[in-house]
Amino acid sequence: MASAFAHAALGATLGKLLLPSRMHWPYWLAAGICAALPDVDALGYRLGVPYDSLWGHRGLTHSLLAAALVAAVGEGLGQLSPRARRPAAGRLAALLFLATASHGLLDAMTTGGLGVAFFSPWELKRYFFGFRPINVSPISIRAFLGGRGLRVLASEALWVDLPCLLMLWLQRRLPVLKKAKG
Ligand SMILES: [Zn+2]
Repeated sequence: MASAFAHAALGATLGKLLLPSRMHWPYWLAAGICAALPDVDALGYRLGVPYDSLWGHRGLTHSLLAAALVAAVGEGLGQLSPRARRPAAGRLAALLFLATASHGLLDAMTTGGLGVAFFSPWELKRYFFGFRPINVSPISIRAFLGGRGLRVLASEALWVDLPCLLMLWLQRRLPVLKKAKG
């Protein structure tokens, strides 16, 4: 996996890009959480679920189907917020889908582990992209804190955080993006 920090940064950036109004900041946060969510399967990994199985790490929770389910549930929860602050349902669903699906896209650009089961449960094949510049983050928190974490964060700063900042800068500079209404 990429680290939770990188996933959350990309999700929150997508939130700001798709729902630029500051009053929608809770949805930026929600998108960040959705982007980190697929790694709940690390719990199963710790409990002995085989990595390459349906429920294994980077399996079903990293699929496009899971992203669609998270988007549907999140959009439903969004209906509970006050109408004046609620973004358009379609835009919110699109944001939550893209944020959750972005998780697998980043993982497929990492240097280690198995690939991502984008099409699970119909196809259990794991995919990587040809371009894999992001140092893989260890599943173990101890290993992350033990020194590998810094190398991972440095790699993510270059390949995830910097492009996110660039996209946010472009949004401020390009009127067509700035005017996008939530
Ligand atoms: Zn992951």
